[in-house]
Amino acid sequence: METELCSAVTPQEPAPDTPGGGNPCADFNQTMSTDPKQVVILGGGFAGVYTARCLEKLLRSEEASITLINRENYWVYQPMLPEVISGSIGLTNVVSPIRRLCPRTNLIMREVDDIDLQKQIVTISPGFRPRQLQLKYDHLVIALGNITDFHGMPGMIENAMPFRTLADAMVLRNHLIHVLEEADVEENPELRRQLLTFVVGGGGFSGVEVMAELNDFVRSVKRNYLRLRNEPHSCVVVQAGDRILPEMSETLALFAQRILRKRGVEIILNDRLRAATSERAILQSGTEIPCKTLISTVPSALPPVIQKLDCHKEHGKLLVNTGLELKDYEGNVWALGDCASIKTVAGTRVPPTAQHAIREATTAAINIAAAVRGGKRAEFGFEGLGTLGSLGHGAAVAQIFGVKISGLLAWCLWRCIYLMKMPGLNRKVRIVTDWLLHLLFPPELAQTKIAFESGIRNQHFEPGDFIFQQGDLGDSVYVIEEGECEVFREQKGEQELLATLGPGEYFGEMALLSDRSRNATIRARIAMDILIIPKADFNKLRQRLPVFGEVFTELATRRAVPGSPHSSAEPSTLGGCCGQPIPIPTPESELGPMPGSPPAVRAATPAKQ
Ligand SMILES: Cc1cc2nc3c(=O)[nH]c(=O)nc-3n(C[C@H](O)[C@H](O)[C@H](O)COP(=O)(O)OP(=O)(O)OC[C@H]3O[C@@H](n4cnc5c(N)ncnc54)[C@H](O)[C@@H]3O)c2cc1C
Repeated sequence: METELCSAVTPQEPAPDTPGGGNPCADFNQTMSTDPKQVVILGGGFAGVYTARCLEKLLRSEEASITLINRENYWVYQPMLPEVISGSIGLTNVVSPIRRLCPRTNLIMREVDDIDLQKQIVTISPGFRPRQLQLKYDHLVIALGNITDFHGMPGMIENAMPFRTLADAMVLRNHLIHVLEEADVEENPELRRQLLTFVVGGGGFSGVEVMAELNDFVRSVKRNYLRLRNEPHSCVVVQAGDRILPEMSETLALFAQRILRKRGVEIILNDRLRAATSERAILQSGTEIPCKTLISTVPSALPPVIQKLDCHKEHGKLLVNTGLELKDYEGNVWALGDCASIKTVAGTRVPPTAQHAIREATTAAINIAAAVRGGKRAEFGFEGLGTLGSLGHGAAVAQIFGVKISGLLAWCLWRCIYLMKMPGLNRKVRIVTDWLLHLLFPPELAQTKIAFESGIRNQHFEPGDFIFQQGDLGDSVYVIEEGECEVFREQKGEQELLATLGPGEYFGEMALLSDRSRNATIRARIAMDILIIPKADFNKLRQRLPVFGEVFTELATRRAVPGSPHSSAEPSTLGGCCGQPIPIPTPESELGPMPGSPPAVRAATPAKQ
């Protein structure tokens, strides 16, 4: 697999128009007279974005260059995300573009694939161009949050919906409208009941808030469905403990339980989700709940890129000191937010909440600034201001500075506090407008149908178009339906035509089979229609249907024989499998330093077999 390496980012004002010469790092580089430290932040949630914002205030451009890597180009205000379900806040108003929140930070909207703490390199996923990118850092902030992990729970991955991201909220909202539409036309009463049953696994803040909003939404839109108006629907929360909201005092949790039950929500305590099918949720106790909607906010785990990180962890989370420095990487790596195991100076374990993540960001930023230019260091001592949880329209529970409040007053407080916390006047105004409109009008009921393209897809190529190029990441296998293509290999600046392929033939399998980069270029000779099978689907088919895999393995073996008529796309890759390793040619030009890059930029080391 081939990668390109650059020092994180040099400029403070990215220059999008700077000719990049095809190098994905080039847009982020300008020649500087000084050598600013490269600060790389992984994750654009509360912890990551607030660290970047704070660093922008603490450090000058000449002192540090800040790069933030996040898979989305926006920051999600998770505490308000459940309100998207009921439509009381518009979909895009609970997010904010990171580029506007952190104007002096270089944002890279990609997936973090790997962190090498020893070499101080972060590897990020390919974009449109199938090349990985490596960034060298001086100081690293790991703030990748956590994920909902259904592993070990049969059927959950396929049938349960997590609720963390904007996409999750969108999918759930569309799904709810879909099941209501289906229930309205369904004649079978049992299936109608199943369609009108909604199960949430997890009775913590997020589970309770999701259920409250979901229930509000279904209750208020059911009247628009002629056959559902008088049909009961059923909402069930499953909680492992003996009460919901374990984060709050018992009095408030019991108040919340009473309110939810009054609103028709069934709460099952001391039980948990064990498995799911497309027809039902199955609990640990053996109880089965027929349903078509299952949302689960538990259990949580660290993102895979952190799971595979070889460093000190506690309860699976990254172990840091009170300065939020990763153990053994003090002064170099900081970890904060939901992915870190943190204790305050007083020894209290820090809960995974947004209010803590924001304060942790300030501590980390002060300490990074101290590492860059010296100065006083900070220790994390925030013990929390209180907790707030919404129970849906007009009700909430709050515990602030030890004072317990519930009902309408708590709900107003909840809205005021979270509105104040939302950065930017623009978003605040939009949210208030949404709330006012929601009070005046019924919720939006239009389904936003998004047709997700299936993994396996067709693509058309005109003569001269490249299907892939030598050195690209092997990310798909291709089957030619119509047309012809030529297979080239470039060596020592010379192009050699290896083969011409036509209808019914396939190519691209070798890089996938050996997880390496392409060592040939494929270009359409005449107009072509190609079936593209992405790597994930290809591997799934190979595992589930061995005969499918055998076809490609056999083809690869034939192509590996030097001088064979189809010794075409990536023969050398396979050579490795057949005991005749042939090195992958790696074009020098892709690995050299980037134009205008500072001295810290090193030539990339191509990934070897
Ligand atoms: C529905 C819900 C409601 C909540 N309500 C409240 C509340 O009322 N009050 C409260 O205090 N807290 C609340 N929380 C918790 C709070 O949102 C989290 O504690 C907080 O978001 C943690 O911040 P973080 O930066 O650690 O993680 P996150 O905010 O989750 O950010 C992590 C970021 O990293 C990105 N990322 C992860 N892996 C990769 C990768 N490999 N490559 C690139 N990017 C990656 C993610 O896309 C994400 O943007 C709620 C959480 C949820 C889900």
